[in-house]
Amino acid sequence: MTDIGFIGLGIMGHGMATNLVKAGFSVTVWNRTQSKADDIIEAGAIRGQTPADVAREADIVMICVSDTPDVEAVVFGPDGVIEGVRPDSLIIDHSTISPQATQRFASIAADHGTHWIDAPISGGSEGAVNGTLTIMIGGDEEQIQRSRAYLDAIGTTITHVGPLGSGQLVKAVNQILVVVTQLAVSEALLLAEAGGLDLDSTLRAVEGGAAGSWMLSNRGPQMIDRDWRPGFTIDLQQKDLRIVLEAADELGVPLPGTAIVFQMFRALQQQGLGGDGNHALVKALERMSGIEVGSRDG
Ligand code: NAP
Repeated sequence: MTDIGFIGLGIMGHGMATNLVKAGFSVTVWNRTQSKADDIIEAGAIRGQTPADVAREADIVMICVSDTPDVEAVVFGPDGVIEGVRPDSLIIDHSTISPQATQRFASIAADHGTHWIDAPISGGSEGAVNGTLTIMIGGDEEQIQRSRAYLDAIGTTITHVGPLGSGQLVKAVNQILVVVTQLAVSEALLLAEAGGLDLDSTLRAVEGGAAGSWMLSNRGPQMIDRDWRPGFTIDLQQKDLRIVLEAADELGVPLPGTAIVFQMFRALQQQGLGGDGNHALVKALERMSGIEVGSRDG
């Protein structure tokens, strides 16, 4: 049986690793903050002491950490994955990171006899817990086939989009759609509030039509309840938008909508709100208008 390793048990990785254990695979896990692994160990996973230790126990190492330097740290840093890799092993990177860095990391890994595919995810914390993630993959078809059963345990929409690095570029496309939709949901709720509408019935009235979206149905009710707990934090969203805007700059593509949202999130970060969920984007509009969404409800 193929041994699986999983590194990074945050909002996303915790649910993903749990689903691999539930599917009956042999999974060795590691997280920088060890306590986040406790319940997964209880559910049947093996505890790795370091990323290198995980790699020694695994043919396929799945990674889901925050940003490009964090992937670099867990793979190439002290006690990193690369120190323990088995011959012909595979690294699957589920983190959202730079497409260019992905090429560089994969090339160094290849020098150590290890394959790499980029497989960023979408679907929010709910998708991670429910095993219904969307996974966009760049890399060799042979390696993707090899990992198929494990990807099936964490996601339902799995698409091979092209060669190495294309998964990360498609994820950048995904993030434009996410944040510009988030801005639309925020502006829509602000107008509804200003006009004295009942926000819950307004949302119900429009979500089934052409204006419906995952963002509206999942984060709209949270915004109305003023529940800012993160499915995805503003700080991580900004990290993704940096990747998007860098790629656009390199390709010479103007992205005015995305740039506006980047600046609005920057303002919220400066006000200490980087740990809020990305749906707190509406707070930037609230501060411009003096109107608070959901303030009359509950
Ligand atoms: P998170 O809850 O903040 O978790 C981040 C994880 O990365 C934690 O396990 C953290 O360890 C680990 N980490 C960060 N820096 C590290 C380092 N230098 N060394 C070792 N471990 C490190 O974030 P998340 O929401 O799960 O996101 C993880 C990735 O998935 C990100 O690339 C994000 O963009 C992407 N993503 C997230 C969502 C979402 O809705 N949340 C959706 C799609 C994609 P500690 O526990 O010790 O801090």
